[in-house]
Amino acid sequence: MLPTRKSPPPPPLDDGIRVDDRARAAAADDFGHLVHRTPEGVLLPASEEDVAAAVRWAAEHGRAFAAQGGRHSVFGRGQAGGGIVADMRPLRTVHAIEDDRAVVDAGATWREVLAATLPRGLAPPGLPDYLDLSVGGTLVVGGVGSGISRFGVLSDNVLDLQVVTGRGERLVASPARNPGLFDAVRAGLGQVAVVTRATLRLVPAPRRVRRFLLVYPDLATMLADERLLAHERRFERVQGAVLPAPSGGWTFRLDLVKELPADPPDDDALLAGLSDDRPRAESSTLPYLEYLDRLAALERLLRSEGRWSFPHPWLTTFVGDPAVESVAAAELAGLAPADLGPLGQVVVSPILRESVRTPLLRLPPDPLGFTFNLVRFPPTDDAAEARGLVTANRAVYERVRAAGGDRGTA
Ligand SMILES: Cc1cc2nc3c(=O)[nH]c(=O)nc-3n(C[C@H](O)[C@H](O)[C@H](O)COP(=O)(O)OP(=O)(O)OC[C@H]3O[C@@H](n4cnc5c(N)ncnc54)[C@H](O)[C@@H]3O)c2cc1C
Repeated sequence: MLPTRKSPPPPPLDDGIRVDDRARAAAADDFGHLVHRTPEGVLLPASEEDVAAAVRWAAEHGRAFAAQGGRHSVFGRGQAGGGIVADMRPLRTVHAIEDDRAVVDAGATWREVLAATLPRGLAPPGLPDYLDLSVGGTLVVGGVGSGISRFGVLSDNVLDLQVVTGRGERLVASPARNPGLFDAVRAGLGQVAVVTRATLRLVPAPRRVRRFLLVYPDLATMLADERLLAHERRFERVQGAVLPAPSGGWTFRLDLVKELPADPPDDDALLAGLSDDRPRAESSTLPYLEYLDRLAALERLLRSEGRWSFPHPWLTTFVGDPAVESVAAAELAGLAPADLGPLGQVVVSPILRESVRTPLLRLPPDPLGFTFNLVRFPPTDDAAEARGLVTANRAVYERVRAAGGDRGTA
């Protein structure tokens, strides 16, 4: 039963609602550990109808309602103070896989989706950089990955969605059925509907990929090659990062991936004309899943040191090409590597605008844009320090806005 303190009748799903402190505290937290809003109850749905009944109850009683997937948000986005949170993880079945599509529950993670599709030689295009995000939680923020310039965002690659609207109606949304709802849900930040099921586009998956890590002497040279590579589409995946250098200052690094056909790749041809510091280049051939799961090693390390559960004052923004160099250079000049943490990074990756079709994603209008993300892993869990970094993020965001950029949705 829900608490009777405000004496509304409980939703007709007593068994599926948890009101114990532990469940409510977990739902009042996320990967950021910066914002905490406690719900009255946490729904563990056994079906889409459970979600619909809880949404109807929340709507009738004027309560907030939010779905949660993997709770990887960093600033309380999936929290519902005094309301109902639906933990979507119990709904994670992969229902069907065909040659060009998979039907999956929204609580499934990308890892679970891939476990079902890769043995069939298939995968969704444009995967995120981290596989333990839920399908629903990713589609409602868009879902940016290293293949964005080639494949668009995750929400560009969804064929239809099964949703529960704010009135508790169960609807299908696709380009043909309820197209306005389809466009409002994709990258709509979970504001208009709960996604319960998605039909994802599938494409043939490479068995292996060739990966290059190229080091650049400076930001301008790295950005010049990112522009070239985004337009040429020589690689399927291009990711730029500025990393704290062990000896102080910054390391500028591109991470490039070529999906492998049967023939061995011609490395010289793939890297021709790029301006990196070639003697420092690293290359490897690895199974596709190993590349996709490349954050797992970092997660293991941070968990082993207890730092995975420290506060994460991250900032994600999009900046147009005309402004990116001056914005990034100015911010790097004012950023202390210690504020990112030794394992943190600034992600500056290209986004070819024409590849992205999700209307609500707030990309700058320029043909080429960039992510400018501060991925901070502070070495301490000091709350005051984390608050200081949130304040610093706000100032960066204001400067990005002034330069024509906007906040990312992740
Ligand atoms: C380690 C790490 C790596 C990341 N990598 C990427 C990346 O590569 N690309 C990227 O785009 N982002 C990335 N992010 C950010 C992440 O994608 C977003 O925070 C994403 O929304 C989290 O998904 P989640 O399943 O954990 O959702 P949650 O954090 O649980 O929820 C996120 C938002 O989605 C809503 N939501 C969740 N499920 C549903 C649903 N079924 N229906 C409707 N709304 C729902 C919530 O209410 C909330 O508003 C990363 C975050 C972390 C911590």
